Amino acid sequence: MLLIGPPRPVIIGGLRDLTVHSLAAAANRDAFLAAFAHVRAMAVSAPVEQIGRAWLEHLPQLEIISSFGVGYDHIDAAAAARHGVVVTHTPDVLNEEVADTAIGLLLCTVRELPQADRFVRAGKWRAGGYPLSKATLRDRTVGLVGMGRIGTAIARRLEAFGVPIVYHTRQKRPELPYRHYPDLVEMARAADVLILIVPGGPATRNMIDAKVLDALGPEGILINIARGSVVDEQALVAALKERKIMAAGLDVFANEPDVPEELLTMENVVLLPHLGSASVYTREKMDQLIVDNILAWAAGKPPLTPVPETPWRSWRGA
Ligand code: NDP
Repeated sequence: MLLIGPPRPVIIGGLRDLTVHSLAAAANRDAFLAAFAHVRAMAVSAPVEQIGRAWLEHLPQLEIISSFGVGYDHIDAAAAARHGVVVTHTPDVLNEEVADTAIGLLLCTVRELPQADRFVRAGKWRAGGYPLSKATLRDRTVGLVGMGRIGTAIARRLEAFGVPIVYHTRQKRPELPYRHYPDLVEMARAADVLILIVPGGPATRNMIDAKVLDALGPEGILINIARGSVVDEQALVAALKERKIMAAGLDVFANEPDVPEELLTMENVVLLPHLGSASVYTREKMDQLIVDNILAWAAGKPPLTPVPETPWRSWRGA
């Protein structure tokens, strides 16, 4: 099998009974890929490559792609389905960690905590206290864009804060006690904070555009823990500059690891380097799930967590 991305210990240890060829260790990429065109399995331990048609055509015997992370916008799952390849990802094991990060980012952005930390470190406290934060979470309606596995975990935490919670998705979830807005602009008008937790990819590309930001308004705060592609980054920079919204907390960017220069100099943004799930604890659980999916497949059993586009049964032609 092929390993694309870093060869981390849980992955290498867990797959020790299989023959693993690591692209990261190859001296000559083309020669390596030519030599291993017959592989039947692939593990992708980081989104370092776009896995699309070219890869699938190059690996005609491929049966499974076991990918790291719950988001798989770096893999063309529809093309994989056409090639009879099952794609798996690592949902659920990261829900709580990402929800923790979302809440941390929300509080940092609303109460300016990283800015206050910089203030202390710069020795400014002796000359007077840090100014009162312009925003508060009190009386703010929080609108979740996405209410899936992670969105639900975020909402559960928000309930303890006593703030009104609303959400936008394509399908209403009637079992939830929160108001559903089928229209995103309408929800942005009603909410004071938007937290983005939808998948990346064409269906959500730039869904947060100038119109949504205008609707969020000058007191509004945007938190993006989803994917950079979900936000029209230029529209966001403009909205922050022109104070059309108050602040933003961003864990993800359109062109990572590049962050727009303008954001780096703004005091009303909090910036994180895409670390939603990034604790040793959770990352090991995600790596273990990469392994478990491959081992299940190798034993002729259904992989544990296929993506919806490539369900195991349809892949088997049943
Ligand atoms: P789920 O599939 O469980 O939930 C996705 C939610 O988004 C659903 O409520 C879905 O509802 C909604 N959604 C999907 N497409 C659209 C659309 N076009 N318009 C409106 N709503 C939409 O995913 P998870 O909660 O497990 O993960 C969500 C995403 O979070 C991941 O795909 C990933 O990109 C991101 N993520 C980021 C991390 C980070 O480190 N920052 C870490 C982990 C995940 P419906 O289908 O009804 O529209």
